[in-house]
Amino acid sequence: MKPILSRHIWTAFFTLSTLIFQATLAIAQDKPKPKPIIDVHVHAMKVNPNFSADLCPWFLSSMPGSIPGADAPSFINTDCARPLKAAKSNEEFQQKLMETAERLNITFVASGDAEILHRWKNAAPERVVPSIGVSPGMSVQAFEDSLNNGFYQVMGEIAPQYQGMSPADMTLDEYFGVAEKLGIPVGIHMGTGGNGMANLTSPKYRASMGNPFLLEDVLARHPKLKIWVMHAGYPMIDEMIALMGANAYVYVDLAGFIWSYPLEEIHMYLRRLVQAGFGKRILYGTDLMMWPELLETSIGVIENANYLSEDQKRDIFFNNAIRFFNWDPKKFE
Ligand SMILES: [Zn+2]
Repeated sequence: MKPILSRHIWTAFFTLSTLIFQATLAIAQDKPKPKPIIDVHVHAMKVNPNFSADLCPWFLSSMPGSIPGADAPSFINTDCARPLKAAKSNEEFQQKLMETAERLNITFVASGDAEILHRWKNAAPERVVPSIGVSPGMSVQAFEDSLNNGFYQVMGEIAPQYQGMSPADMTLDEYFGVAEKLGIPVGIHMGTGGNGMANLTSPKYRASMGNPFLLEDVLARHPKLKIWVMHAGYPMIDEMIALMGANAYVYVDLAGFIWSYPLEEIHMYLRRLVQAGFGKRILYGTDLMMWPELLETSIGVIENANYLSEDQKRDIFFNNAIRFFNWDPKKFE
């Protein structure tokens, strides 16, 4: 090849590469934002580096047994191709969470540590909807004052099951009364807790206190209360369906079990809810703790549910939450 010709070829090649590069850049800049997703179940927590271990999703595929007096069976495992990395500091957790929320266009309802919650809200006011629980010893008046100051827009996670208590226990009743009066939606933990919860960390935990039917008295006492059942009352599908059938304003979220139980089991449960006609009452949620990649893991479960139509997926990811919380969809565009 003559040198002069080769120079022309190189010039042409570089011009072409530049054009391709510019076109790619233009496409990247024009790339529309992903469709909005609302995650109704995120935990704002301080990361303790000593307890922040990596995790394999769907780790409850095996529930090892043990015997009293022996070591408690391990709860979480890392025996998979690519365990999800746990954040090692509050800063890393926040930075990765916000980066993912921005990239995937996620707005999330978060409850937990007040200091962390304020930091998150300051960092991304449009992405974070603060939620308040009933902390031990908090008076009804203090609870109402907290809601009235405007920072908190949701009540949850309320988890009496870990105390072996029914959600209908009268010690909670006045708090629900406040939420009903102020039109604040309430998320109540019902159902799953993981393998050996009563032996490992929560001796008062009672599986029976996760029965969705226990909400009937709460709903009867507070007919205007907006309740969603966190973890969809897993695994009590029949009771869940019966409760939703009897109470048109009750919704469920998919948090926790969506990334911890065996995939087939998750799809069986979700499919049954949709099959029973409740596709408009399912909220997307993760139960996100210190593993930011759980956001993508959990979205993937819904995306891959081949028994759901695209419309049904959008309902779960977004439309149902908009209806339940009574939000303006335009604010999420
Ligand atoms: Zn929960």
